[in-house]
Amino acid sequence: MLQRFPWLAAVSLFTLFTVLPAHGDSAANSRATAGLLLIIDDIGNNQRAGKRVIALPGPLNLAFLPHTPYSALLAEEAFQAGHGVMLHAPMANEQGARLGPGALVSGMDQASLQQTLSDSLAAIPHVQGMNNHMGSLLTQQADAMNWVMQVARQQGLFFVDSLTSPKSVALEQARAAGIPALERDVFLDNDTHPAALKRQFEQALQLAKQRGYAVLIGHPYPETLAFLAQELPALHAQNVRLTRVDQFLQQRLWLPLQPATQTPSRYLLRATGAQLEP
Ligand SMILES: [Zn+2]
Repeated sequence: MLQRFPWLAAVSLFTLFTVLPAHGDSAANSRATAGLLLIIDDIGNNQRAGKRVIALPGPLNLAFLPHTPYSALLAEEAFQAGHGVMLHAPMANEQGARLGPGALVSGMDQASLQQTLSDSLAAIPHVQGMNNHMGSLLTQQADAMNWVMQVARQQGLFFVDSLTSPKSVALEQARAAGIPALERDVFLDNDTHPAALKRQFEQALQLAKQRGYAVLIGHPYPETLAFLAQELPALHAQNVRLTRVDQFLQQRLWLPLQPATQTPSRYLLRATGAQLEP
C-alpha cells in the first residue's frame, strides 16, 4: 500500500470528524481566515492554458485529464509551483458525451474499472487525490463508486465529488470507505460572462466566510483565467486564503487532536520539497 497520506491510518477517526462541524463553524472562530479550495479541471490537452493556470496566485488545485499530451509535464510543474495535483477521472455521463482516454464507464467489471483508474493515477506525477470529469451517470452507481473508493483508499488519496448529478452517491461511498472526501459547492464558469463569473465567485466567497471553507471548481477558459488573475490577488484583503485540498483535509483531521505538538508529516515534507526520511 502506498503511503501518500501517512495520516490515512487514522481514517476511522476522519469519519467521526466529518459528522462534526467543520473547523471554523463556531461563533468563536467566525473571524478566522476562510479557506477557498479552488480546483481547476480539465488540464492536460492545452499546454499554454495549463501554464497560465500554474502561473496564477496559489495554491490552487489542478485536476489533470489522464493520458493527455501535457498532463505529466504540467503536473510536475504544478507540483514544483506548490499547487495541489489531482487526477480528473473521466466518468460516464447521462448525455453520452465523449470522455477521452482513461474513461470509467457503466458496465465495466470491478477489475477493469480499477485497472483503468490505477493506470490513470500512475500517469499523473505527484497525484494526491481525484475528482470526477463529467460522471453524471457513473456517480449514481454505488458499486462503481465503491470500487473507485477502494483504489483511493489503497493509494492513500482523497476524493472530491464534482457533483455533476444531484443523485451522486460518490461522497457517501467515499465516507463509507473511510477516505478523506469533499464535494463541490460552486461551479465558477458554466457561464463565462464577466458578471456571471463574478456572481459565482462571490457565492463561493460568501460560503467560505460563513462556513470556513468552500469548494469552487473552474476551467482553463480564457475568460476564467483573466477573471482569476484579477480577483485572486485581492483575496488576502478579504481574509480569504487559497487552500490546497490535501492540506485542508489534513488540518481538518488533525487539528482537533493535536494542535500544539504536531510534527511535520511526510506529506508536508513532500509538499515543501524538503528531504524525505528513508
Ligand atoms: Zn472536466
